[in-house]
Amino acid sequence: MKLYTLTLLACAAGVVAAGPPLHGQRGSTAPQGPPVQVTVNGRTWTQQELFQRNIGGPNDQTTPFTPHKIIGNIYYVGTRTLTSFLVVTPQGAILINSTYERNVPVIQKSVEQLGFKFSDIKILLGNHAHGDHQEGDALVKQLTGAQVMAMAEDVPALKAMKPGGREHPIDKILHDGEHVMLGGTTLVAHLTPGHTRGCTTWTMKAEDGGKAYDVMFGCSLRAPERPTPQNVDEFNRSFALVRTLPCDVQLGDHGAQYNMQAKYARLRSGGPNPFIDPDTCKVEMEISEAMLRAILVEQQGARQR
Ligand SMILES: [Zn+2]
Repeated sequence: MKLYTLTLLACAAGVVAAGPPLHGQRGSTAPQGPPVQVTVNGRTWTQQELFQRNIGGPNDQTTPFTPHKIIGNIYYVGTRTLTSFLVVTPQGAILINSTYERNVPVIQKSVEQLGFKFSDIKILLGNHAHGDHQEGDALVKQLTGAQVMAMAEDVPALKAMKPGGREHPIDKILHDGEHVMLGGTTLVAHLTPGHTRGCTTWTMKAEDGGKAYDVMFGCSLRAPERPTPQNVDEFNRSFALVRTLPCDVQLGDHGAQYNMQAKYARLRSGGPNPFIDPDTCKVEMEISEAMLRAILVEQQGARQR
């Protein structure tokens, strides 16, 4: 039997940003074998490479990425690797993903650089209950008074997230398919569990240049190192659902999930909006699904050895 000490801490909290070598090592006495890997769209990935791709280097999670308009009323206000999105309406704004609490001032500055007021944020949403995406909820609420809304299945994990010992605010509990409306914009909450119990993929229509586009704020579908049968059931439902979601513009909880930095470079060079890319909308889901299947095959093989 293979013994892995590889610890993919599920894009976990603080420890990741602090940068200890917490992934990629195997026990020195364990039998060595090739890591599980998958090839999708011509690129080959291991679990560790996907994790590393998501979080980037030591400072990437906390260094602001140039705030920019993505499409319609949707703006990027996150860091190099942890996304935050501002959806602006005539009745205030919606923020998706507060990220780490220490990033909240970074997000605030990006919002202001775009010419918006942080205090205009009326609703705070998130993709999933891991610290790198939602630890800052209490501080955002404190600074803006925003209503914090969360998928029911993620509430226990969010309640356990208490930076500085403060309660995690939750003003409204959402369920699969529920609509969040503000100033003419409607966001739909899709339960896409697996990575967390309440992992939420958000969709909305964005109007740009006289056309309407389907935008999908995807939740991570990255499997843990050792998926449980419950994980597998949840991921199977999520892959099937994401496959059916209409999508012209794919976003994600980490910029690398939608090739943000390359698309932004193309945005700056002019031409058609590179974020409108329906052909690649589901590639991240396909990578995640291929990886889960490969992990399960590896586990099956390990049991038979
Ligand atoms: Zn996560």
